[in-house]
Amino acid sequence: MPGERLRALILSDIHSNLEALAAVIGDARQRGGFDCVWCLGDMVGYGPDPSECLRLLREFDLVAVAGNHDYAAAGVIDASDFNGAAYAAIRWTGEQLDGDDKHFLTELPVVSVEPPFTLVHGSLRAPIVEYLLHPSQALATFGLMTTPYCLVGHSHQPFVCRDMAPMPMFLPLPEGGSVELDNGRCIINPGSVGQPRDRDSRASYAIFDSDGPAIEHYRVEYDIALTQSKMRRAGLPEYLINRLDYGV
Ligand code: ZN
Repeated sequence: MPGERLRALILSDIHSNLEALAAVIGDARQRGGFDCVWCLGDMVGYGPDPSECLRLLREFDLVAVAGNHDYAAAGVIDASDFNGAAYAAIRWTGEQLDGDDKHFLTELPVVSVEPPFTLVHGSLRAPIVEYLLHPSQALATFGLMTTPYCLVGHSHQPFVCRDMAPMPMFLPLPEGGSVELDNGRCIINPGSVGQPRDRDSRASYAIFDSDGPAIEHYRVEYDIALTQSKMRRAGLPEYLINRLDYGV
């Protein structure tokens, strides 16, 4: 008997961007809705609304893993190796979060298995720090996967990486299209909700639909100017404010 249909909203690297998060949720609702949210980490850091983003996410049936910014904001890891702008933002973020927010972030696992997916922020070899962008890195994560599919974030670059011989192959995640999940193992990055870095300033996200099964990928515009004005008011670094315009 086939199981019940599941639609999971897949979000990564929201980075305290409430306008982008709300736009994504609204867009996903118009595209058939979702039953639960799978979050691949970096819910906070960089942006102006850390507590508000956590509150909104926790309204849903949520499975979340930790990103480096989540742990740094909660004091689980040391942020001294962050670059200047990221460090300034993470210190500011830590001051905005209340005890419950920090407890929530502290308790996040680094890996979560939601068959047939494994969720992790960076990679399975180095869950919160590795930017999985090269075939050799994908090979290492394929070697550690216990499920056919793995969802990653961290690089803010949407892609699907297929487990091919002799080396894994990175392919673009087609916008507005879907990737069928019946052709063997793959690693998928849905891109970043709140700070895209693929020269497209629109928020990026994905939906898993167990009917298919397939991963759908979408981009949605949001009110960048509003996010930027909040960042300016908060005194967040100009570099972080400006990059949202360009998706870099
Ligand atoms: Zn990130």
